Amino acid sequence: MTIESINPANNKKLQEYTLLTDEEVGQKLEQSDQVYKIWRKTNFSERGKLMLKASDVLNVNKDKYALMMTREMGKTLSSSRAEVEKCAWVCRYYAENAETFLHDEQIQTDASRSYVTYQPLGVILAVMPWNFPFWQVFRFAAPALMAGNAAVLKHASNVPGSAALIQEVFEEAGFPKGLFTNLWISSKQVEKLIENPIIKAVTLTGSEKAGASVAAKAAQHIKKAVLELGGSDAYIILEDADLDLAAKQCTESRLLNTGQSCIGAKRFIVLDEVYEEFLLKFKEQMLESVTGDPEKEETTMGPMARTDLRDELHEQVMKSVEKGAEIQIGGEIQDLTGAYYPATILTNVKPGMPAYEEELFGPVASVIKVKDEAEAIQVANDSKFGLGSGVFTKDLSRGERIARYELEAGSSFVNQYVKSDPRLPFGGIKTSGFGRELSHHGILEFVNTKTIYIA
Ligand code: NAP
Repeated sequence: MTIESINPANNKKLQEYTLLTDEEVGQKLEQSDQVYKIWRKTNFSERGKLMLKASDVLNVNKDKYALMMTREMGKTLSSSRAEVEKCAWVCRYYAENAETFLHDEQIQTDASRSYVTYQPLGVILAVMPWNFPFWQVFRFAAPALMAGNAAVLKHASNVPGSAALIQEVFEEAGFPKGLFTNLWISSKQVEKLIENPIIKAVTLTGSEKAGASVAAKAAQHIKKAVLELGGSDAYIILEDADLDLAAKQCTESRLLNTGQSCIGAKRFIVLDEVYEEFLLKFKEQMLESVTGDPEKEETTMGPMARTDLRDELHEQVMKSVEKGAEIQIGGEIQDLTGAYYPATILTNVKPGMPAYEEELFGPVASVIKVKDEAEAIQVANDSKFGLGSGVFTKDLSRGERIARYELEAGSSFVNQYVKSDPRLPFGGIKTSGFGRELSHHGILEFVNTKTIYIA
C-alpha cells in the first residue's frame, strides 16, 4: 500500500510513499526496544549533549525542513521557519532542564532512606497531526527521549516527508539509530501497534474521534494515554477592553496556520456595549490578510491543508447560514486552484449551529453578542471543548478572576492570544483531552514515578 503527499497550494502530487507491512513494523519495534535498553542507562549529560545537537541540526537545516512543511500542508514559509526555530527551542529547553525536573525527591519516613525516582517507561507511540508537522512531534519527543524513553511515530498521512525528516534530525544529531523511528503506516495499523507489548504508552494529538479510538485501545491493554484533542476556544471581549488590541490579537489567533490550530480562537463573545465597534475593527483586521502561494514572502495566509478539509469547513459554514448565521466577510470558495478558503466572519451564531457547537478548523470566526459578563462566561463554557480561552479587559484583576475561576479550559490568557511555550504546561479538559505536554509537567507523563524504600 502507498500514500501520496499533495501540495495543497496547487493540488499537485509531491511524492508517493510505501507503507510498512505489519511484519516490518514488528521488526522496527524490536530494534527500538533493543536501543531503549541501552539508552535508559545513559545519563542526563549524554542525553543533553545529543538533544542540544538536535537543536543545532534544526537551526542549520531550517530552510529545508520549512520548505517540506509548506509544500506538504500549505503553511507560509515564514511560519514554517518559525516552527522549526520553536522545535530547536524545545530541544534546548529539555536538554538544559530535564535533569532538574527529574531529580530524586527525598521523603522522610521510618526508612533509613526513602525517595522517589523517575525512571523511563520504554518505547512510546506518538500519533500526530499534520497542522504543526514538526512542532507537535518535537514537543513530545524532546522530553520523552530526555527522560530515557524511545519513541515511534505514526504521523498524519499527508505529511510523510516531514515525518522522515524528523527521524533524520535525531539521526544527524547522533542519537542511536532506532531511538526515534518514523513508521509510515495507516491509521488502521495503529491498533495492532498498541497491542504490541513493546509499546508501553501512547500519546495522540488530533481529533476527538481518533483520540477516543486510540485511548480505548490503550485502556484495553492497560497502557497510559495522553490526548491532545480539538478545541473551540472562546475569547471574551468585555466592555472595558482595548478594542484595537483585542481585534488584532483575535485576528492573529484566528488566522494563524490558516485557522488550523487547536488553540486558535474560534468563538468571539462580545459584550453588547462594544459589539459594533469591535466587529468593525475585527473585520478590518481580518480583511488585511493576504491569501496566496505560501512560498511567496508577501503571503500571510496559505491554503488549508487539503481540499476535503476545506470542503468540510465550507459545509459547516453553509449549515450555520441555513440556521440563521450571517456572513460578514468571506464564506465563499474562491475560483483558485488549491485548498484556499477566505478569512470569514459569521455573526448571529446561535446554539444548534455547527459554528456554535463544533470546531471550525479553518479561517472562520464565530462572533456572538451577549448582554453582560455573566452571559459571556456562560456562553464561553457552553462547549464540549476546554482547551484554551481568553479574556480582553483593561481591568487586569477582573481579567485574572475570570481566567482563573470562571473559564473551563486548560489555559486562560488575559489580553493576549493563547500560545504554547516550552516553559508552560499545555493541554485541555473536557473533550479537548487529558494529560499535559511541555514544562516539567510534560516530562512527567512518560515516566515511572518509582518509590524506593531502604529499611
Ligand atoms: P486526525 O484526523 O485525528 O489525525 C491525527 C492523527 O491520528 C493522524 O496521524 C491520523 O492518521 C491518526 N488517526 C486518525 N484516526 C485514527 C484512528 N482511528 N486510529 C488511530 N489513528 C488515527 O486529526 P487531524 O485532522 O490530523 O488534526 C486536526 C485535529 O487535531 C483538530 O481537531 C485539532 O484541534 C487537533 N489538534 C489538537 C492539538 C492539541 O494540542 N490539543 C494540536 C493540534 C491539533 P491519518 O492521517 O493516517 O488518518
